[in-house]
Amino acid sequence: MNFKIHRGTQEIGGSCVEIWTDTTRIVLDFGMPLVEKDGSEFDFRKYEKLSIDELKQKGILPNIDGFYDDSKPTINGVIISHPHLDHYGLINFLNPKVKVYLGGATHKIIELTNIFTPSKNEIKKYGYYKNERPFSIGDIIITPFLMDHSAFDAYALLIEANGKTMFYSGDFRGHGRKAKMFKWFKHNAPKNVDYLLMEGTQIGRKSKKEKSESDIETELILKFNELGKINLVYASGQNIDRLVSIFKACQKTGKIFVVDVYVATVLKALAQYSKLPYPSKSFPNIKVIFSKWTSNRLAKQNLKQMLYRFKYFKITKKEIGSNPSKYVMVVRPSMKIDLQRIKGIDGGNLIYSMWDGYLKKKGAKDFIDYLKGRNFAIFHIHSSGHADLNALKQMVNAVDPKTLIPIHTFNGKDYKNIFKVPVKELKDGEILSW
Ligand SMILES: [Zn+2]
Ligand SMILES: [Zn+2]
Repeated sequence: MNFKIHRGTQEIGGSCVEIWTDTTRIVLDFGMPLVEKDGSEFDFRKYEKLSIDELKQKGILPNIDGFYDDSKPTINGVIISHPHLDHYGLINFLNPKVKVYLGGATHKIIELTNIFTPSKNEIKKYGYYKNERPFSIGDIIITPFLMDHSAFDAYALLIEANGKTMFYSGDFRGHGRKAKMFKWFKHNAPKNVDYLLMEGTQIGRKSKKEKSESDIETELILKFNELGKINLVYASGQNIDRLVSIFKACQKTGKIFVVDVYVATVLKALAQYSKLPYPSKSFPNIKVIFSKWTSNRLAKQNLKQMLYRFKYFKITKKEIGSNPSKYVMVVRPSMKIDLQRIKGIDGGNLIYSMWDGYLKKKGAKDFIDYLKGRNFAIFHIHSSGHADLNALKQMVNAVDPKTLIPIHTFNGKDYKNIFKVPVKELKDGEILSW
């Protein structure tokens, strides 16, 4: 077995690992980079006119033979670990004849992202894998392990071939709503693994113990209990753990939970896979605002029926404006136009519930400035989607690999000081054979 990390040894985002034997080649993750080579924010719009060859030359598309639309496929399969763009965001370039293996809910999330956001990632040929059910591609056996992460349906992957094993952690944590999964994993992790490729997003950031989602819930309750204020929560519509925390805090404070059609659709779709609250007769305290940007987007795609299916749970701007303190609403910058039309909410709370690094983005900054202008008090209530140092150590102890390899980190050089197993730092594109 041989492998190389095309991208991820020196950076967070754009993960891509190629593994091959004499007869089979597979790729784990095919993500969009998050940073440029100089460390500035990556924006694919700058490159979208370039050809596949030009994108390869610029190092944006990994140089993999037989992988792209313009070549005869020589890759036997691509495995996506979870539905975050930095792990699947280049999949549109993949040769449509190559089969993509992913979780069923992951595919659902990718399809919804195509509808509700400007990103386009059609997967032509696919198969769904299931937690702890090994499957093979040629002579390579893959076993997925469901992980706790800020993305729904995230997996670590055990790869076995020619009597050797590699464990790819994917993105994970131990302090989210699936903390029990991680606990289970610590006792049931694969043993005698030759290589552990482990994410280290938090390595080098200020080391603190991450709050659990129930800590987040408690902090939200304190804010929601302040008298006479609307509470807007700026959170990702795909961070399901967080949406559940907001919902639970609403339940405990007697608030109505307001989501827009995008978040409503995500919750409803994923409720097929896990017990989740979503706008329905069973959850009368969840209401749906028909936000303008999203409604227009659906209308343009002839998907107005996606709006109508929430019509019985609709709430109007007037209703919110007439009694603001009754409501907690999930918002994002594209909803500024809706907020402008809701009178009477000035002086409320805005709870920013994402990584503070995103605050540098112009859209986020403008949105927060707008709300500051309406005398909103701004708070940051958040916990990372990634393992803290303690959980990283627990992963290494559980898998106890012969060699640990840094991936999805800016600080691979620190691994050897932190973990008590042999560490091998690779460079992007360096081949390891055994
Ligand atoms: Zn990631
Ligand atoms: Zn992720």
